[in-house]
Amino acid sequence: MRILVVEDEKKVASFIQRGLEGEGFSVEVAYDGESGVEMGSQSSFDLILMDVMLPKMDGLQAIKALREKGVESPVLCLTAKDTVEDIVAGLDSGSDDYLTKPFAFAELLARVRALVRRGTQERGAEITYADLRLDPVAHKVWRSDSEIDLTAKEYALLEFFMRNPETTLTRTMIAEHVWDYTFDSFTNIIDVYVNYLRKKVDRDYTNKLIHTVRGIGYVLKED
Ligand code: CA
Repeated sequence: MRILVVEDEKKVASFIQRGLEGEGFSVEVAYDGESGVEMGSQSSFDLILMDVMLPKMDGLQAIKALREKGVESPVLCLTAKDTVEDIVAGLDSGSDDYLTKPFAFAELLARVRALVRRGTQERGAEITYADLRLDPVAHKVWRSDSEIDLTAKEYALLEFFMRNPETTLTRTMIAEHVWDYTFDSFTNIIDVYVNYLRKKVDRDYTNKLIHTVRGIGYVLKED
């Protein structure tokens, strides 16, 4: 589970980061609104913790910008303000929940767990793209109603493609999401797996869905 923390106060950011890492989450930190939007839209996080008062772009604007870019990660807004108007503005801008500063770590953790759980449940719905259909609960995939037999890694790779259709996925993004880590010599393995997946998904069909973006990565799209 990956969490992005957007918080300009270094002490608060590292307090949250250490606490969440201690609970087994993987945490990245951005120290202003602009880099929060950049990081939040470049790779997908299971949750974004967004402070409201931030340099460069405030948290509410940052949430709006993320939603406009199609980022669907749940957002927990951290606010020092506690007036009804500010909270309503936060929820209007696209945040899912809010927490008023100062807060106890236990309370933050409870909210984080609730939002991450909700996100996981929403991910239970079937996903379709073109004539592909994926059932995230049963871990099964069909193309034109015939089931495709995939290994666990091939399945994880296809699910990542189907959750981000018509989006160029770099090898780094694929490594982070499907293997949970990155290292440079990894790209070969990704290419090998994409080829395995292609054989199973595309070989018998004229309408190819997995395409190479030369020098960058791969994209799931219709011709
Ligand atoms: Ca702040």
